[in-house]
Amino acid sequence: MKKTYVGGCHCGAVRYEADVDLSQGTYKCNCSICTKARLWQSVIGPEDFRLLAGEAALTEYQSRTKQLHHLFCKHCGVHAFGWGDDTELGKYYTVKVNCLDNVDLDELMRSPITYVNGRDDDFTKPPAEVRHL
Ligand SMILES: [Zn+2]
Repeated sequence: MKKTYVGGCHCGAVRYEADVDLSQGTYKCNCSICTKARLWQSVIGPEDFRLLAGEAALTEYQSRTKQLHHLFCKHCGVHAFGWGDDTELGKYYTVKVNCLDNVDLDELMRSPITYVNGRDDDFTKPPAEVRHL
């Protein structure tokens, strides 16, 4: 069941609301940006994401493949969410589940994690090593 969470960056400049069903699973990917930033994400539709504050504080970074728009706060550096439109699903948002302020930790720990092998662009099977993600 979807719940409405409030999330954002560390300094509080970026704030959003997101309707997320954590029981549907979360994602960790081994590509270079996800590994370095240790991104743990939930993917939601645009109807489930509302930016409340901080548009002017957001800076965008795109990696080599230019698939995902990695947004981060230019004051505190935290990647609180991102977005993409590179799939047949159309536009989607990636919410960093560690940035959801009112998430219940037991609920988060029960969320099934799908590990993605973005490093090798192989989305057919999980990476061999995931402990560092
Ligand atoms: Zn910030």
